[in-house]
Amino acid sequence: MNASLQTTAGTAMKLEGVSKLYGPVKALDNISFELRKGEFLTMLGPSGSGKTTSLRAIAGFIQPTAGRLLIDGRDMTGVPPQKRNIGMMFQDYALFPHMTVLENVAYPLETRGIRRAEREKRSMEMLEIVGLAHCAKRYPKEMSGGQQQRVALARALVFKPDIVLLDEPMAALDKKLRGQMQIEIMHITRQVGATVVSVTHDQEEALVMSDRIAIFKDGCLEQIGSPNELYQQPCSEFVADFIGEANLLRGKVRAMPDGVVVEGNGWGARLPAGDPRAQAVAAAQNVCVVLRPERIRAVEAGSESGNAGEGMIEDKIYLGVEYRLVVRMNDGSKINIRSRDIAGIAGMKAGDRIGMAWSPDDIVIIGA
Ligand code: ADP
Ligand code: MG
Repeated sequence: MNASLQTTAGTAMKLEGVSKLYGPVKALDNISFELRKGEFLTMLGPSGSGKTTSLRAIAGFIQPTAGRLLIDGRDMTGVPPQKRNIGMMFQDYALFPHMTVLENVAYPLETRGIRRAEREKRSMEMLEIVGLAHCAKRYPKEMSGGQQQRVALARALVFKPDIVLLDEPMAALDKKLRGQMQIEIMHITRQVGATVVSVTHDQEEALVMSDRIAIFKDGCLEQIGSPNELYQQPCSEFVADFIGEANLLRGKVRAMPDGVVVEGNGWGARLPAGDPRAQAVAAAQNVCVVLRPERIRAVEAGSESGNAGEGMIEDKIYLGVEYRLVVRMNDGSKINIRSRDIAGIAGMKAGDRIGMAWSPDDIVIIGA
């Protein structure tokens, strides 16, 4: 089969078992996924998890030790960076200080041999899109950090690359500006229909901008999915903890005539026999249950059973829109609750026994 036939029409890029070794360090360990055309994918993971190495492999600055990379159905093995139609905006990918904004944006077109009138027209169009047409004649140092960021984005998009790579694009900006730029970059890249791979260690940035998020850990792709899929169906403790806030309860499986109970000291979760989660576990197996803080109802101690627990309120914090409760369980572990039931919780106080209840739908079981 011809390489170009192996990916479907909607696929912009495909990684097949890509690994990268630096001596004994496995910077990338057998990474496989597909990127769809027009998609905004964020690689999210802690420092050293392999995000930048992935981008560098896609850009062609490094060659994988094993596996291969297809862009638009073509095998990129041995294809140098300048022969890949890829746009880049890295945190240290500075603008040229001696060139005007317009010249900066036009630069990739110039290296591609586009004649002057055409490249100025296309660069002005792109500056229009990023809202900086009025700054075309200025030099980078005459612009704010956020404006320079938008110029760099215009330069990365102007030649209509197959893929745009962003490495920690907001790292140099302060928190408030970062929030604005996340939304702006998301709008601009969608407006021009760009296919984007972005890298960050900031979960909020990933959630704000992405169609899908790829979670990296120790050079491995831990899970890939939409923000909602990762939040609702994390495959591991690592993912549950990385996307949003998670309570992790350790328990054991007990078989019942009508399903299974997963239980620990002072809590239990019941799943009916037909439920795929009940079918995926075996009696006496140790498991970990993920429960999101906002899915737990605070109730009177002893008032609910089945999908319920009990503990002692250790902290109660009023945040205006919600209460946060820290509950100590019988085994000493702690559970966080976020509740908007202001009236129901107002009368509770630290030191009180408290009941907790949840819907079986909100239980995610992962291996112990
Ligand atoms: P991230 O971008 O997620 O912080 P990197 O991709 O930069 O992580 O690094 C992944 C791993 O590979 C780390 O353990 C890092 O130390 C190692 N690494 C990256 N580049 C090199 C290199 N050029 N030489 C040796 N080790 C490297
Ligand atoms: Mg990095």
